[in-house]
Amino acid sequence: MPDTTAKRVLLAAPRGYCAGVDRAVIAVEKALEMHGSPIYVRKEIVHNKYVVETLSERGAVFVNETDEVPEGARVVFSAHGVSPAVRESADARNLLTIDATCPLVTKVHKEAVRFAKAEQTILLIGHDGHEEVEGTAGEAPEHTIVVNSPEEADAIEVADPDNVVWLSQTTLSVDETMETVRRLRARFPNLQDPPSDDICYATQNRQVAVKKLAPECDLVIVVGSANSSNSVRLVEVALQAGARTSYRIDRAKEIRDEWFEGVETVGLTSGASVPEILVKDVIADLADRGYATVEEVRTATEDLMFSLPREIRADMKAQEAERALRA
Ligand code: SF4
Repeated sequence: MPDTTAKRVLLAAPRGYCAGVDRAVIAVEKALEMHGSPIYVRKEIVHNKYVVETLSERGAVFVNETDEVPEGARVVFSAHGVSPAVRESADARNLLTIDATCPLVTKVHKEAVRFAKAEQTILLIGHDGHEEVEGTAGEAPEHTIVVNSPEEADAIEVADPDNVVWLSQTTLSVDETMETVRRLRARFPNLQDPPSDDICYATQNRQVAVKKLAPECDLVIVVGSANSSNSVRLVEVALQAGARTSYRIDRAKEIRDEWFEGVETVGLTSGASVPEILVKDVIADLADRGYATVEEVRTATEDLMFSLPREIRADMKAQEAERALRA
């Protein structure tokens, strides 16, 4: 029998679903319950394959753009937010929109609008092509420059170096973002900070937890999809914090035997768009490999909840009133 006494799993907490993802997924579920299929969803409601597949099976239809949605149909905007141009195009097609944009993304949109009104140049730290960045930049395209990395901070040019402010995508690495800001400030000493952190509480909490356990880990497994920014960042953070190796997987079946050579301690976490069932599958897989001892490493407790999108609340209220009338 192999010696399994030293084998253990350190399970990060918090991990998995954040308040914004929870709200967005419930919004689609409620829309399906109340109005039936199809409910169109622009882009992935959250960046997780399993969630998208599960909602598709229940009747959600995922599209890339609003012009793929039949005139007058119901469409949900994803948690990552949309630009004003997308809203206009939805209005032009008379779509019934349900806005599941995370309130913490909306906060960044509002900041962008405010700084653009003040004629400031916004240096938006984030990844070009990510839906959230497209949405935020779309609030003030004339005033926004996307800064993808610390290296890019060394090269960007602005019209007035004394009138610049930085904002960021909500799901970045805290440390890398601070490095980008440091380099921007070296070039633009009057760079203004955002009024509050743009990197959201959930992203920060998951990074803090993985940083705590990573130095003890031979391997850190991050459950999350390849297009999930905060999940991909967790792998980077784990490696920077001292994990010997780290891999991102969508599902337990992607775990590879060769990862476990000489491994005693496995760290496990999941991105903010990952349902806990996927983590449970990984825990079961690890137990089969002899890693049956699971210790939780908790660095914060989260109890934030957002109310459902107002369109869903209004429809729920209308249905209740109808039911009461019939009773
Ligand atoms: S990761 Fe943060 S910003 Fe994104 S949906 Fe979750 S709470 Fe909102």
